[in-house]
Amino acid sequence: MSNLDVRPTETACHAPEHSGPVAEFLQPREVPLGGIRSMQVKRTLPHRGVPTVGAWCFLDQFGPQRTTMTVLPHPHTGLQTVTWPLQGEIRHRDSVGSDVMVRPGQLNLMTSGPGISHSEVSPPESMLDGLQLWVALPTGSDSVAPAFEQHVDLPGYETRGLRGTVVLGELAGTRSPATTYSPLVGAQLDVDAGAMTTIPLRRDFEHAVLVLGGTLTVAGAPLEPGPLLYLGTGRDELPVTSTTGATIFLLGGEPFPDDLVMWWNFVGRSHDDIVTAREEWERDGQHRFGVVAGHGGERIPAPPMPPLRLTPRRRRRPT
Ligand code: MN
Repeated sequence: MSNLDVRPTETACHAPEHSGPVAEFLQPREVPLGGIRSMQVKRTLPHRGVPTVGAWCFLDQFGPQRTTMTVLPHPHTGLQTVTWPLQGEIRHRDSVGSDVMVRPGQLNLMTSGPGISHSEVSPPESMLDGLQLWVALPTGSDSVAPAFEQHVDLPGYETRGLRGTVVLGELAGTRSPATTYSPLVGAQLDVDAGAMTTIPLRRDFEHAVLVLGGTLTVAGAPLEPGPLLYLGTGRDELPVTSTTGATIFLLGGEPFPDDLVMWWNFVGRSHDDIVTAREEWERDGQHRFGVVAGHGGERIPAPPMPPLRLTPRRRRRPT
């Protein structure tokens, strides 16, 4: 999916300070994604104060809603897009020649390297729900070749009172086959009704939890669909209880060491990186971002940049 915000703000993310364990609710912003029958998405990353969780730098939940997703070809730099449908199906086409449908339980993972473009289209008026996440590519891997992979058979993880799927990275020795460039975890987990259990974590990772359904307590904090609960670093395990049962998405990773500047669909290291990427998409696009077949040259133009020069800012210290 694209960031279709018509007036995107530039977000500068300074390398984080190591926080230790915290429990901070990051409230979602409702973002309309263009058009007359626009889709509403709930965005919890980047968030003021907590721009990244590990290398995870963007988190949108779209739906559940009956809608038609029509996201024309648009560019990306410096990231991997992670599309994880919860309901419905989406056709993905990109400039490295992919043309696939993605459905619940399947992962679409697209690696931009220095530049890629793609489109995403759903069947008309279909029930859609899902997550779109971005993973920032660390310095040194931001120039890897553009690539796309789809995974339809991801490994399961199970412990007392809880089972799920490791989507990206590794959870307690269970490893997703999807390509990653920094140590991280992304997993969808179903917590049983009446469960009182723990999820093993890596102490050097920072983590966050989003509820997809039901209610539960995470590290003693009551949590329901909406906010992202940021948990900081320094935890060996995460206590979880649920009366009703719940489905969650767990994010985590090594605190990202590099400064980032994010604007529209671009992740770079500086304001100038973003300006250059925008100019190259607007000028022609094909040299850096390739061509997505089947759209007759239609594409999403880049919005105007805000009249500001941004430099990475420091993450707010947790209170
Ligand atoms: Mn996209």
